[in-house]
Amino acid sequence: MSKESNNDRLSLWGTATNYQRTPHDSENSVSRNVRIAWLCFVGLLIVGICAGVNAAYSQSNNSSGAQGAAGEPYPNMPSIAPIGVRIGKYMDVPASAQGPAIDPAKGYRVQDLGKGLYMITDNAIQSMFLIYDRGVVVIDAPQNLAAYIPKAIAEISDKPITHLIYSHSHADHIGGAKALGGHPIIIAHEETLRLLKRDADPNRPLPTVTFSDKYTLRVGNQVLELSYHGNAHEPGNIFIYAPAQRVLMVVDIVFPGWMPWRRFALAQDIPGYFAQVEEIRKMDWDTFVGGHVARTGTHADVDLQAEFNQDVKQAAATALATTKPGEGLNPLDKNNPWAFFDHYIDRVAAQCVNTLTPKWSTKLGGFDVYIWDQCYSMEQTLRIE
Ligand SMILES: [Zn+2]
Repeated sequence: MSKESNNDRLSLWGTATNYQRTPHDSENSVSRNVRIAWLCFVGLLIVGICAGVNAAYSQSNNSSGAQGAAGEPYPNMPSIAPIGVRIGKYMDVPASAQGPAIDPAKGYRVQDLGKGLYMITDNAIQSMFLIYDRGVVVIDAPQNLAAYIPKAIAEISDKPITHLIYSHSHADHIGGAKALGGHPIIIAHEETLRLLKRDADPNRPLPTVTFSDKYTLRVGNQVLELSYHGNAHEPGNIFIYAPAQRVLMVVDIVFPGWMPWRRFALAQDIPGYFAQVEEIRKMDWDTFVGGHVARTGTHADVDLQAEFNQDVKQAAATALATTKPGEGLNPLDKNNPWAFFDHYIDRVAAQCVNTLTPKWSTKLGGFDVYIWDQCYSMEQTLRIE
């Protein structure tokens, strides 16, 4: 604000004060006191009415009295706390979600997948390496495993890392690439190159070889088949298949034993995500590596996740069809379309959570952690995609 306009405002306030004072000065003291008493009475009456109305509104609609604060719970609110509410104790993780123990002195474990292919994991994130006659191919270099990968390779082989494959561009899976050192050939999908150019992260060096549809890597007597199945988790996320070992690695799509990470693992295309789970299910492999959680997966794990996906879809579809928009909304919010939809979508998500809880809460690890997220993203994709 300029000095001039500030002075203007001060002078206006001054004028108003003077204006109030002038008539009082011209009145006699009796009429002034009557007037003051009357004003006080009217003022108290208004304050009283306002306080009464406010208290009644607080009781029926708003526990703290502040606009935007939590009100009465929705009818049939799930026992699982919604997003943003602190949970005292999360549900126990079922045994089926656990994996082999990690030696705490090492911090990682290596799983032999057969014929020179290995998985390395800290039981939270997973990558692989493939040994051939003259070197090693590393598949993903997660930030948290970067220090362990050379040690794990050294347990088995003294050959150098000659190739590095990126499953996709995300830093949690390839943010340790630079730390591996050397100058390996880096292979990725062309969309991954585009995204990494944009991200300009020195810890994720750009791929040196890219492809658009399929790429077969032959090194010594080892083979890896890379293929692209479209956008689901993010553009450029590929399938990596080792035919001799019958191992399929697809990252951030299926989580053996667990609920997917929130919002179907942040899938950028949820219909595409559902389709890829079905593709993985129908493919011919023996061992699945998902890039996360404590163990590898089986066809039973993928079948279970596909069944869960279909149940979420059905539950959200039914909730959308049977929930009445606007029902129970505070009439004072009737001209606020954002509030109208928030109130509707909350009730759809609540019904979706209620439908899924009896069957799924003990079947998948982390059900209570992300079920609200899954229901919110499912209702959204059904409504607009
Ligand atoms: Zn990712």
